[in-house]
Amino acid sequence: RVARETPRCVSSSPSSSQYDYDLFVIGAGSGGVRASRIAASYGARVACAEERYLGGTCVNVGCVPKKLFVYGSHYGHMPEEARNFGWDFGTDKKLDWARFIENKNAEIERLNGVYGRILENAGVQKIWGTASIVDAHTVQIGEQKYTTDKILIATGGWPNMPKVPGIENAISSNEFFFLKDLPKRTLVVGGGYIAVEFACLLNGYGSQVTQIYRSDLYLRGFDRDVREFLAEQMVAQGVNLKFKTDLKEIVKLSSGAFKVALTTGDEIEVDCIICATGRNPKSSNLGIAEVGVKMGKKGEILVNDRSQTNVPNIYAVGDVTDRVNLTPVALAEGHCFADSEFGGKVRMPSYEMIPTAVFSNPTIGTCGLTEEEADAKYGRDDVDVYKTNFRPMKQTIAQGTERTLMKLIVHRSTDKVVGCHIVEPAAGEVIQLVGVAMKAGATKAHFDATIGVHPTAAEELVTLR
Ligand code: FAD
Ligand code: NDP
Repeated sequence: RVARETPRCVSSSPSSSQYDYDLFVIGAGSGGVRASRIAASYGARVACAEERYLGGTCVNVGCVPKKLFVYGSHYGHMPEEARNFGWDFGTDKKLDWARFIENKNAEIERLNGVYGRILENAGVQKIWGTASIVDAHTVQIGEQKYTTDKILIATGGWPNMPKVPGIENAISSNEFFFLKDLPKRTLVVGGGYIAVEFACLLNGYGSQVTQIYRSDLYLRGFDRDVREFLAEQMVAQGVNLKFKTDLKEIVKLSSGAFKVALTTGDEIEVDCIICATGRNPKSSNLGIAEVGVKMGKKGEILVNDRSQTNVPNIYAVGDVTDRVNLTPVALAEGHCFADSEFGGKVRMPSYEMIPTAVFSNPTIGTCGLTEEEADAKYGRDDVDVYKTNFRPMKQTIAQGTERTLMKLIVHRSTDKVVGCHIVEPAAGEVIQLVGVAMKAGATKAHFDATIGVHPTAAEELVTLR
């Protein structure tokens, strides 16, 4: 497929044959594999180094295993819901956590193989090991040095852990995916994507979850209605949410549990502490400061809109650049880099209207501006907000606590839909397509003129008045 869709069009400098490779990619994650495959399909001689796992964070300790846990967590309350629909599964609900982890690991291994074959089939030289940059045209792995015309850094990020006494007793998302047992009581620290997703999925699996967040309301940067709505939903499901609360100290008890002192003066005892307190760009062990590549305060590699660093033949894509840290963005950046540098068609990713989902329970789907951002950008008088908050049809019989929120933000002068925010089990699926409409410049009139799909939750988006 690659050979058919991509003509040979390598545009390396005339001197490139003096090097071992035209392109040396560091990191076989989302951005690195995409860039390697596409560059090779244009005829470039490409090597891709990986130190840990093929497929990177997304495949091994990110999106994919996380979504499998999210799926699994939904079964916990299904017998109760199903009862009102006439089903009776009996009363002895049991969880075989080890069976699930084994199945999950098998699926990840399968995907590792898929990623390996993507590189092989594209003719990319796969090299295992930790790569560092010796000079602008030389990469080193162990004792071996490789010369290259261009270097692409796609090394991703790594969890940031708070600096408090006893933090060695806490784990990050990386370790969570391999826990031997479901913790009976879990403390989740943080208020971003990962913390919210983990608190929800652990609650669904039956762990008693406390989530703490240092400021007044979690999910900073999301629409305020969405943040408040999800907090209410999670509390109704039994998550103990504590805002304006942070870690102070962790002490391991002889029972194996942990006593956690909080900044509020409270103490809690839990079996597992997961810190989801952000991720830092993985740039420190690459030797890039020595070759003069400029980095920002967090260690993010600074690049222009062609993903080029200040050293002209060194480029960087994905989380290591800390632009928008999502898999599809890393893929787009890697693809655009390869098209531009090896395919003879200059392309740049668009960072506007990126649809995204938080796989909480229920899921958040969001695209474009929040109400607060729209007010700041256009002025309150030039913004119309349409929203609805309702009990989904399924819950009329299932009798659960779940509700749905949908919100459209419209720029009054142009009638353009500039923001869409949904909290609903299928919000991830819905927002993908709303994103297409918004990217195409859809107006509120277009939404109004669209016939609904009945009965769905999404039809509310075309009937909001
Ligand atoms: P990575 O995928 O991290 O790949 C970097 C690779 O480089 C790694 O394999 C690493 O081992 C390797 N490497 C690092 N240093 C070296 C070196 N010196 N030498 C050789 N190899 C090296 N995004 C979404 O869009 N949707 C989600 O649902 C989602 N869920 C997530 C859940 C979690 C728990 C986490 C942590 C992240 C999630 N993300 C999600 C974010 C997503 O995983 C990242 O944005 C994406 O993986 C970034 O891709 P990347 O190519 O920049 O880096
Ligand atoms: P985020 O940056 O989203 O959130 C980090 C959270 O930790 C914030 O609430 C932050 O608080 C808090 N925090 C940071 N430092 C500390 C500290 N020292 N002590 C206490 N709290 C702290 O990072 P995540 O780790 O949740 O996720 C990383 C990125 O991965 C996401 O931003 C996203 O781009 C991506 N991702 C995407 C997913 C998806 O698409 N569904 C799922 C998971 C991850 P404050 O708000 O005050 O700064």
